[in-house]
Parts: sequence; C-alpha cells; structure tokens
Amino acid sequence: MEDLSFLSSERRSKAIAHVQDEEYDILIIGGGITGAGILLDATTRGLKALLIEKNDFASGTSSKSTKLIHGGLRYLKQLDLALVREVGKERAVLYRNAPHLVIPERMLLPLIKGGSFSKFMSRIGLTIYDIFASVNPGERKKMLTKRETLSIEPGLDEEVLIGGALYSEYRTDDARLTLEVIKTACGLGGIALNYVGFTSFNYEEHQISGIVAEDVLAGNSFEIKAKQVINAAGPWVDQIRGQEGEINGKKLHHTKGVHIVIPRERLPVQQSIYFDVGDGRMIFSIPRGGVTYIGTTDTNYTGDLKVMHPSKEDVTYLITAVNKMFPNAELALKDIVSSYAGIRPLIHQEGKAPGEISRVDEIFVTDSKLLSIAGGKLTGYRKMAKKVMDMAMERLVNEFGYKHFSCQTRYVVIQGGDIEDMSTFKRDLDESVIRLGLPEDRSFYLTHTYGSQALKILADLQGEDKDIALAQAEVTFAIRHESMHTLLDFFIRRTGKLFFDPSSIEKLLEPVAKRAGSLLNWDDKRKEDEVQSVKQALREAVQFE
Ligand code: FAD
Repeated sequence: MEDLSFLSSERRSKAIAHVQDEEYDILIIGGGITGAGILLDATTRGLKALLIEKNDFASGTSSKSTKLIHGGLRYLKQLDLALVREVGKERAVLYRNAPHLVIPERMLLPLIKGGSFSKFMSRIGLTIYDIFASVNPGERKKMLTKRETLSIEPGLDEEVLIGGALYSEYRTDDARLTLEVIKTACGLGGIALNYVGFTSFNYEEHQISGIVAEDVLAGNSFEIKAKQVINAAGPWVDQIRGQEGEINGKKLHHTKGVHIVIPRERLPVQQSIYFDVGDGRMIFSIPRGGVTYIGTTDTNYTGDLKVMHPSKEDVTYLITAVNKMFPNAELALKDIVSSYAGIRPLIHQEGKAPGEISRVDEIFVTDSKLLSIAGGKLTGYRKMAKKVMDMAMERLVNEFGYKHFSCQTRYVVIQGGDIEDMSTFKRDLDESVIRLGLPEDRSFYLTHTYGSQALKILADLQGEDKDIALAQAEVTFAIRHESMHTLLDFFIRRTGKLFFDPSSIEKLLEPVAKRAGSLLNWDDKRKEDEVQSVKQALREAVQFE
C-alpha cells in the first residue's frame, strides 16, 4: 500500500509540525467531497496541496446525502439534455475509477394515476435518458405493466398503480467516497488534516498569502502559507467568504434534507424505488444491508448548522409518503431505527422554492483572490474540482510563473478500486470470509466499504468472536490509514454502522473503544466520554421534536 502516513492518527502532531514549515501551492478549506476532489485534482497536477477540515472528513453534507451517483433524470424533466449527457458520462468515469464504491442499482419507478410521470412520458423520457446518459445496453430501461410491477413489488398501492419502469442508477457511500478520494490524493503526495479549522486569512499586498488555522484536538493555533486558498466549505462557504467583509453578489441558500432508516422487514422492498409523495415531489427508498433508508425532504433552513436534527415534521412527512404508496406498511415513528439530516449548499435564486433551485455549482472570486466553490452534487465532484483548479492553475501560471499542468483525474483509480475483475474479487472474498468464520454477508459489506483494502483488514483478524475481531481490525485500519480520532468517526463515517446497522453497535462498542483507546492512548475518562458520545448519537437518531 502507498505511504499514507499523514493519514495515520498516531502521526498527526508530526504532520501538523510539518505543514507549518511549508508553503503550499493550493490550500483547501473543507474536507467534504468537493474539497476532497480538489485535493486530488491539485495533487495529480503535480502541485503541493494541503486540505484542512475543522471536524472529521465528510462530517458535513457529504455523509448525509441519498448516496446516489445520479444519471441526471431530474435534468431530463427540465429538458436539459446537455446536462444529462454530462452527468451520465461522469457517472461512467466514477464507476470505472471506483468500482467498489459505485454500485449499479436497478431503480423502480412506479407509475401512478396523476403522478409525476405518465406511461408515455416515462417511456420516451427513459429512452432519451438511456441514450444521453450512455447507459450500458444490459442496464437500459424496462417498461412494466401493472401486473409485472406488482409481481416485483407486491406492497405497492394497487388502487393507484398503472404500471412501472425499471431504470439505471448507481449507489455509493458518500463518506467512504470522500475518504477514499482524500486517501488517493495523500497516496500521491497531498496532505489532509481533519480536526484542523480555518480561523482567519493572512495577507501580503492585499492578496491572501495564507491562513491561521486551529488544531481543534490540541486547542492551539498555527499559520499555514499558501499561494492559492480555495474555500470548499459546503454550507459554511459564506461564513468563510464573510471573513473578507460583506459578501457581494450571490449567496448560499440552505435547504434541509432528511432520511429515515427502518428495518428491512418493516418495508421489505426488493429494490430501490423512486416514488411520488403526492405533493409534486418524489422520494427514494433504498435497501442497504438489513435496513431500508427513505428520503429525502427539501425545506428551507435558516437555523444553526452545528446542531441540526430531523424534526418530527420531517420524519412524519416521509412516513406518511411511504404509507400512502405502501398501504399495508403502516409505518410509525417507533419503526425508525435511525435518521439523519443534511444541508444542501445551494446558490440562492430569488423567488424559487427549495425543490426548484438549480443544483448547478458556481465559483466566486474576491479581489484578494480567494476562490470559493459551492452548489453542485456529489456526482459531479470531479468536474467541479477540475473547474476550480483550472482557474487556480491559470493564476499560478500567470502570476507566479508556474508551468501549466492540466487535469489528470479522469484516469486516476480511487483507493481500493484497483480490482481487475469485480466478480473474481467477490468470489475470492466470499471464500475468505467463510474460511475465516465470518457471516457470509460481510463479504458484500467489505467489498463495498473498502474494496481491495478489505484483504488487509481480513489479514489482521484476531480473536474468538468474529464480529468483534472484524470491528477491531477495522478500527485499527481506520486509525492507521484513515485519520480516525473519535468513535463517532468510526461508527458514522468509516463504517456507516450508526445509521445503517445500529443494532450491531451494542456488542461492538466496548471492544472497539478498547482497541481505539489503546492505539490512541486514551485514559479511562476519554474512553468513557467516547462511548457516551456514541450512545448519545444513537439516542438522537431516534428522537424527534
Ligand atoms: P460538505 O460535505 O458539507 O463539506 C464541507 C466541509 O467544510 C464540512 O465537512 C465542514 O466541516 C468543513 N468546514 C466548514 N467550515 C470550515 C472551517 N472553518 N475550516 C475547515 N473546514 C471547514 N448529491 C448526489 O450526487 N447524489 C445524491 O444522492 C445526493 N443526495 C443528497 C441528499 C441530501 C439530503 C443532501 C443535503 C444533499 C444531497 N446531494 C446529493 C448533494 C451532495 O451531498 C452535496 O452536494 C455534497 O455533499 C456537498 O459537498 P461539499 O464538500 O461541498 O460540502
């Protein structure tokens, strides 16, 4: 494996000392998918690049999405065919470079009386979508009669159903994708530090020459020098722009999106479904392991970005929508095993409702040469990074005399994606999992969480109880290679367990805390605080006010 030593939590202080002695070509604020993509783009252009993230990587919007690598169906509704083509091509690039994290998913579109799509429109629309989004022949749309639709999803409401269509989407894990993009960049010479926040800018002759940063874990400040600073702070982009005085021109518009998670048996759908709510909106229900997650809402948000939870109104909206489409489901609040809320960092458009605001990204430049990028989607992260880095590169060439290097990320394999043949890899992993005495379904989980790195984790398995042995091997890996510092980093962003397998945590919490504590030198109090923070997060995920 490449030298990812700066992503070792145990070597953090060395990394922080190191960055203070350097001057970076590119300094990125924000460790969500946007910042991660920029770090990779900059690094593969041969630039010296550093990313700082005030919390954990992907702790903002990039762990709270619907986790789909879209083909651009929503742009088809707006008749923006060029965008459908662009998004479709980008999806193919991501699938090639990260086959472990971009999983083909058949999506069922139930067609209902008075719904968003008529039979005629869906037939024509999905044919155009297949062509413009370059969908593989084997994955192209399939129109279904009412009977065929009910035979694959018997729980749908017979009264309103008029037919269905199957079309192609791709599923991912947003936080893992963000982490692996960061790790890929670090394997190529980039540096990424979580729990390091931006505090203020430093200037030379009215141009930004660096920043003052805070080591959130140690509680001290230090300076970092950089020729070009890029603000990729997602929902916090305007907070950082605001440090330079009043913001001129376009501002961000925050909307809140909530998902609920329920046990698979409470809504035993056979595949992902994209269905009408009844108010003109559509939501997804997506099976993942032993659960199904459902979302999302889309409402204006002006509250605190730090403390943001799904409200009773949010989750009731989703439950009502499911019960309407699946009349026998009879879901209630008590069925929810977890939930999460994220903020869309959209660009404000006067007079538009949340669902109507464009998801297109924009770049803002100030006189002091701060570049800020916001808007966009997880799916378009590589293109967004290219766009902002093209601008940064032009400045480095024109003002600092750098040689020009163009974007290289089209062919960069994302960490864990170096798998020649996915079916052979899965077959081999299935065999290893059984040989090691692990439950069979761990093979799917390991493949789509770690890709080829799963082999390294399995090689570290020790102990009688296999679930505990696996979790301890994972936490060791997360500390050594993925900058894990807290148990929430592990249970939310490294493994997704807190939202998608919460019932597993009771058994794993103490053994994971023990292993993490011994590697990170936690005293008893710190260990207990960490355990309590996980218990608190589990409670909050099912408390709605
Ligand atoms: P973030 O992920 O929020 O990252 C910004 C980071 O900056 C944060 O981690 C934050 O801690 C950090 N930061 C802030 N201030 C500072 C500071 N002072 N110093 C250092 N760091 C700082 N897109 C898709 O393609 N497919 C989907 O299915 C999809 N579903 C979605 C569903 C919902 C409910 C939402 C809300 C969004 C969805 N999106 C989807 C959009 C996608 O998730 C976002 O566009 C994307 O995650 C934004 O990433 P980001 O890096 O810009 O922001």
